[in-house]
Amino acid sequence: MQIIESVNEMQQLSLKARGEGRSIALVPTMGYLHEGHASLLREGRSRCDLLITSIFVNPTQFGAGEDFEKYPRDMERDMTIAAAAGVDIIFAPKGEEMYPEGYQSWVNVDKLTLPLCGASRPGHFRGVTTVVCKLFNIIQPSVALFGRKDYQQLAVIRRMTSDLNMAVEIIGMPIVREADGLAMSSRNAYLSAEERQKALCLNRALHGVRSAFRGGELSALALRRLATEIIEKETSPVIDYIELRDGTTLEEVATTDGKTLLALAVRVGRTRLIDNCLLGDEC
Ligand code: AMP
Repeated sequence: MQIIESVNEMQQLSLKARGEGRSIALVPTMGYLHEGHASLLREGRSRCDLLITSIFVNPTQFGAGEDFEKYPRDMERDMTIAAAAGVDIIFAPKGEEMYPEGYQSWVNVDKLTLPLCGASRPGHFRGVTTVVCKLFNIIQPSVALFGRKDYQQLAVIRRMTSDLNMAVEIIGMPIVREADGLAMSSRNAYLSAEERQKALCLNRALHGVRSAFRGGELSALALRRLATEIIEKETSPVIDYIELRDGTTLEEVATTDGKTLLALAVRVGRTRLIDNCLLGDEC
């Protein structure tokens, strides 16, 4: 397994591989890898000749006052997990390498980035789409894999690649959870033991709403109220949003169906956690 920090070196190597007819799978990450990332890596391994993961805590997707500085980082551990999943190359550029002095170009997806995390984290998706576009240009992947844990991000990236005719297939992968249902996330490392318990209210809300939906409750208002009640049973969580939206357009719905997305963002202590499910799916 090779570690590459230089954009130029990464791009030359990728262009050469593609020129030789080798397919490339890319899994973009911010590092501090866990089993959720590993599931994407293994799928990428099975699909392409060359498996590349990027590890880059992208400053442009963090707002002022967010956790960019303290985001967990552990390259040694990441290398072990990546190697075990069959990664050929880790692309780990420094900030200045991706955004050199004078940088001023951005990719923006319009309507899909307005609600949910786009509303509570202004500028976040502009940073995400820009860095992913740059990674696609540098790495030339035939396939790129993203987790449905970041449901809106996946929808936005699908839109961007389709709208801008990018020659890369986007694969969405299931949410990987801890045994007790908490969605795996690098940010779970911030949680104290007590907060870790409280954090289970997100998964509890998904289950509660899905079973009410299966029991015949179709009103988005009623289902949203139920999710709010379940989450507010925990004393401290602060709700950022609880929303039921169309799973494709992310537009608000009044009446739900199996393709309706329930999306949650909740602060437990100082940690912002997100989770989601489609009402018709298992979660
Ligand atoms: P991150 O490092 O948090 O930016 O995540 C990198 C990729 O891994 C994104 O496509 C995430 O959606 C995906 N990912 C993160 N956590 C999970 C999880 N628990 N299950 C599946 N995919 C995940």
